[in-house]
Amino acid sequence: MMDEDRLSREEFSIPVELQRQVAIATLDKIYNWSRRNSLWPMMFGLACCAIEMIGAAAGRYDFSRFGTEVMRPSPRQADVMIVSGTVTKKMIPTIVRLYNQMGEPKYVIAMGACASGGGPFKEGYNVVPGVDRFVPVDVYIPGCPPTPQALLYGLIALQKKIDTESIKTARWYKKEPSVPIPIPVLGPDLIDPRDLSAIKERSQKKSQEEPEAATGDEEGIVHVS
Ligand code: SF4
Repeated sequence: MMDEDRLSREEFSIPVELQRQVAIATLDKIYNWSRRNSLWPMMFGLACCAIEMIGAAAGRYDFSRFGTEVMRPSPRQADVMIVSGTVTKKMIPTIVRLYNQMGEPKYVIAMGACASGGGPFKEGYNVVPGVDRFVPVDVYIPGCPPTPQALLYGLIALQKKIDTESIKTARWYKKEPSVPIPIPVLGPDLIDPRDLSAIKERSQKKSQEEPEAATGDEEGIVHVS
């Protein structure tokens, strides 16, 4: 058994006859121990990396050994989103919506070069250069594609991260409700609603520099031809 899997704290001595029935631990340890050993991933894949994720779930690697065997088709029952594949501009509004629908505590793994930073398609007109532009990523797994072993290593890294959380400071347990991430808008290009004021400012500045080339719309965004 690894140290982080041990529930009971060694500084408290428990009588030998009770050692298999009684554990003394902090509340943080119990929360983290139970959460780290029952991470349910959301069942979706985006591209070739998803095949490796499927391989990690199958008999040879069997990530159920880490408590992740229950892949859920509903975001409301999932704890971890494994972004396995190329994140396109068409797909990111759906990914953000699914992330918002997951119950807290929730975690994100960026699996592979595409999800982490755009990968071989980074400069592509239709590709988001990293899912972390929109959702917070806890673990990045390098590779194109990462092997099933690499995904297992990423899951272990996530477990280690969970071990460091405290009920007092983790954002899930704060009294204020968490704010959902604004859903990106896909038009002629992808718009992040959080950037709207900066986009307006830039386009208005551009229209002042080149007034004859610009036309405005009802949102106040100026299109420069
Ligand atoms: S990182 Fe490589 S294997 Fe994974 S989705 Fe991108 S191109 Fe495919």
